[in-house]
Amino acid sequence: MGTVPSALKHCLSYQHLLKDQLWIAEPPAAAQPAQEPQASGLPEYIKIVEVGPRDGLQNEKVIVPTDIKIELINQLSKTGLPAIEVTSFVSSKWVPQMADHKEVMRGIERHPGVQYPVLTPNLQGFHSAIAAGATEVSVFGAASESFSKMNINCSIEESLERFEEVTKSARNMNIPVRGYVSCALGCPYEGNVVPDKVAEVSKRLYSLGCYEISLGDTIGVGTPGSMKKMLEAVMKEIPLSALAVHCHDTYGQALANILTAMQMGVAVVDSSVAGLGGCPYAKGATGNVATEDVIYMLNGLGINTGVNLCAVMEAGNFICTALNKKTNSKVAQASFSTGTIN
Ligand SMILES: [Zn+2]
Repeated sequence: MGTVPSALKHCLSYQHLLKDQLWIAEPPAAAQPAQEPQASGLPEYIKIVEVGPRDGLQNEKVIVPTDIKIELINQLSKTGLPAIEVTSFVSSKWVPQMADHKEVMRGIERHPGVQYPVLTPNLQGFHSAIAAGATEVSVFGAASESFSKMNINCSIEESLERFEEVTKSARNMNIPVRGYVSCALGCPYEGNVVPDKVAEVSKRLYSLGCYEISLGDTIGVGTPGSMKKMLEAVMKEIPLSALAVHCHDTYGQALANILTAMQMGVAVVDSSVAGLGGCPYAKGATGNVATEDVIYMLNGLGINTGVNLCAVMEAGNFICTALNKKTNSKVAQASFSTGTIN
């Protein structure tokens, strides 16, 4: 393949970074496992849920061609990522960026051991997703009444009723359902969101049968302080093993917030390759935390993810080149600082 030499070149610069930037210390003279001892109190393994193809591309200004999306997902499938959120089965009237959901589902090469969840806002979307071959779905709720009305055009209660139809059908078909709670640390319309409200909506989604609840800082305003308070409230209602965090980096707090969540035992983290996705509520601001940056931090902590950072950087380079945009990953910016990304 024509991309191999450039991939190798990038990997070499990445190896150079490892040695010269004190990223991982030289192993001691005595034979030791290659991995750094993991910082105490943190999970040994973090599951990364890649949301770039859906959450990321949905918030990009341009509509990305279907074959580019398929190639991005195929590249991500080879990185060791355990879960890649592929697309959204919402009406193309609402989200034109995801109008090609069927084609994307049919076009991707699925790797064994990789989950490919898709977003389904209601029963109609769920049936379309299953018809297109989906084997896992997500429902998308909010902890803020105003956001729910603006984003999915119904109250929180109405959204939960719709989700119940989805989870019931899914249960009958043995399809796992993941639940999102957006605005968990703040709302673009209401400002502060009380932790008890996040806990309440999370508990409802969990009781409907969602196997995992992803707590989303949709506008990236949270801090380690608000993350801690929110998680303390949610953890009273839901087992820790069923929680994930979904941080946006709008205010530059995402990695700190993720670390805080991990210190509290959360072991599932959503992220987006190249930090794809803008923030529709803060013009010019960055979107999701970059997968590359999360993995870099976890590698430095000696935490296993099973994901090859170099391969994710290559996928990030591919999509940024295709979109003619600069990566939002600090790690990719630093590693490709020789100007290999245009
Ligand atoms: Zn998001």
